[in-house]
Amino acid sequence: MQGTILIVDAIATNRIVLKVKLATAFYDVLQAGSMADALAQAKQRTPDLILSALDLPDGGAGALCAALHANPQTDNVPVIAIAAHADNPARMAALKEGVQDVLRKPVDDTLLLGRVRSVIRAHNAAAEWQVRDDTTRALGLGLAETEEHFAPRGHCIMVGPDAAHLQKWAAQLRPVLRARLTLAPTASVMRTAAQEAEADVFVLALPDDTAAALDQLRLIAELRAHAATRHAGVLVLQTSPDPTLGAQALDLGADDLMSEGFDAAELALRFRALLRSKRMQAQLRASVRTGLQAAVFDSLTGLHNRRYAMPHLKHLADHATSTGRPFAVLAADLDHFKQVNDFYGHASGDAVLVEVAERLRACLRSTDMISRIGGEEFLVVMPATTLNEARRAAMRICDAISSRRFEVPGSADPIAVTISIGMAFADPTKKAARALDQEAETGESLLNRADKALYAAKGQGRNQVTLGRPAA
Ligand code: GH3
Ligand code: MG
Ligand code: MG
Repeated sequence: MQGTILIVDAIATNRIVLKVKLATAFYDVLQAGSMADALAQAKQRTPDLILSALDLPDGGAGALCAALHANPQTDNVPVIAIAAHADNPARMAALKEGVQDVLRKPVDDTLLLGRVRSVIRAHNAAAEWQVRDDTTRALGLGLAETEEHFAPRGHCIMVGPDAAHLQKWAAQLRPVLRARLTLAPTASVMRTAAQEAEADVFVLALPDDTAAALDQLRLIAELRAHAATRHAGVLVLQTSPDPTLGAQALDLGADDLMSEGFDAAELALRFRALLRSKRMQAQLRASVRTGLQAAVFDSLTGLHNRRYAMPHLKHLADHATSTGRPFAVLAADLDHFKQVNDFYGHASGDAVLVEVAERLRACLRSTDMISRIGGEEFLVVMPATTLNEARRAAMRICDAISSRRFEVPGSADPIAVTISIGMAFADPTKKAARALDQEAETGESLLNRADKALYAAKGQGRNQVTLGRPAA
């Protein structure tokens, strides 16, 4: 199934004509005769798109759109209006209320289906990110709320083959756009895009000549292929109506289409709608990314967290026999850390933890996994390491912490901090040679051994490294 479309029109024959067109394109079609009926149906089964007559007995496409937005369940359902005779003010009013487009009758079939495909595609992409964001939140990984970013005005790049046209349009557009506007000749768009920090929306003005217009449309693929412009909005502007070309533009990935020529107010309106939807998606992507980061990193120190460290150690231990590579586990714990908090305050304690993480990184290789697995407890897993290398690294850490005092907000003078380290070493080759029937060491047994060694280091006076005895 391609998607579910709800047709809203008081006249049954209008609905049936549309239904036939959409059903042949394999859409699932629902019907409603009024705005109230449409709202009730949309709540029951959220459609992917609503195609509504501009005028309805109990309202209109614009009012329907506003009512959908007021309900979180139907908030994102896109609406396209179809009008018998829409004068410009009526069109603009509907667009302002959030209608994606107002198509005039008779509606060209190719253009209609192109529009429908494009809107449903965008709707599904947005829904996909929403689901992922919901998942990270459900896992407890979402941020409290993605803060409403200080929203800059946006940047529009208008592209066309005719510089004189662009200049003339720009003069009309500037007073109403309320955004930065850059003009670019077709040939140098990609260069302009690379130079500009951020392009939010590209307006591609198509030349009248069909071959040249098709050439211009190739830019859409190019914009989508570059990291800097991949998520930018693309609005195609036709100077003269050409439904086939318009449909092609939408199928090539244009986000929006103005098929009736340049109109400054309408373009500004569509620019803002695109900007809003692109920003919302960018925010969702960022929120998913931060959520995933929170899944494996400790937010205070940027080190890996316990959730990541434990399976990592288990994985390394499980595969040690097959790789035949020895590796080391360090369990490290700050000495008398409670006193740091008690004397200098929690913020000072946090500052120490952040600096300790820095020094750990400086002492270790990039292949070593460094994690903060508890308040002031760190776990380091060093793959492909000899016993001597691991011991030297552990000593280096002790020294790096104790030899230089820590600057903290709660004390005028830097404070002294020390760390104790317990070490466990696993050499799968030796073990295999020694006793073939002996159970392979697990991540858990290694951690146990490192913990016992740490306990011994604490007992022997702290600020030192102790090697755990191999299992008997
Ligand atoms: P020992 O040498 O035996 O390890 O003594 P200790 O005081 O370090 O050990 P203990 O486990 O009793 O205390 C750990 C303290 O670490 C308790 C808590 O105040 C502090 N702590 C745990 N997590 C954090 C944190 O995220 N930030 C700060 N500032 N302190 C933390
Ligand atoms: Mg502790
Ligand atoms: Mg401690």
